Amino acid sequence: MLRKKLIAGNWKMNKTVPEAATLAQEIAAELGRVTDVDIVVCPPFTALETVGKAIEGTTIKLGAQNMHPEAGGAYTGEISAPMIRSLFATHVILGHSERRAYFGETDAFINKKVLAALTNQLRPILCVGETLAEREAGSTLKVVQTQTEGALAGVTAEQVNNVVVAYEPVWAIGTGKVATTEQAQEVHAFIRQLLTKLYGETVAQKIRILYGGSMKPSNAPQLLTQKDIDGGLIGGAALEARSFVELVSAAA
Ligand code: PEP
Repeated sequence: MLRKKLIAGNWKMNKTVPEAATLAQEIAAELGRVTDVDIVVCPPFTALETVGKAIEGTTIKLGAQNMHPEAGGAYTGEISAPMIRSLFATHVILGHSERRAYFGETDAFINKKVLAALTNQLRPILCVGETLAEREAGSTLKVVQTQTEGALAGVTAEQVNNVVVAYEPVWAIGTGKVATTEQAQEVHAFIRQLLTKLYGETVAQKIRILYGGSMKPSNAPQLLTQKDIDGGLIGGAALEARSFVELVSAAA
């Protein structure tokens, strides 16, 4: 298999530490030995250590939801790549549309984070995607291209092997409106074409491109059979063990 499917759960600002421990234990019990699908759970910072302990010794990987590009210093309230690494996390979600929309993150800032993550052996899950207004204006592909190229500026072909791209149409996130398989596949194929232009065919064929936006057990099987859809970044349906387990099964 050229690209193993990857299912990542973005818990967002949900779960206290005890709640996160319970969910992580449930997920570890059901999925802890899965090897045919890569699984990443991304709890809030406060629960990283606890969840890390709950999944220790399993095949499930740990990810953070954000990070600051600097390694340390006077950035009150921020968390750096070395701090995340010290909790044995392997992944970090960067450029999520909620961070772009509510915290004003630009492509240039996200690019700094991507570079810092890679320097610190963290694999970025780089989110790109258009708003409803942008889709209706016919600028979906242009927006996705600008975001992808902006975030990957200066990333070498060797480094990009460690990047996962997540196409998340903003209008589909947390809304229950999932992109049709054709809409999703069109953008995924476009991203792969763009990666081919930037890094060459061999490298681009290995990069995983996840779909995110109201993915759930009922719609996942169709999405996951598309040629360029290599897994999912899951919000709402990752907050409950049953649906997360079903999503992993759909990817197997
Ligand atoms: C997300 O926030 O990354 C996401 C895809 O959320 P949801 O699955 O809830 O739409």
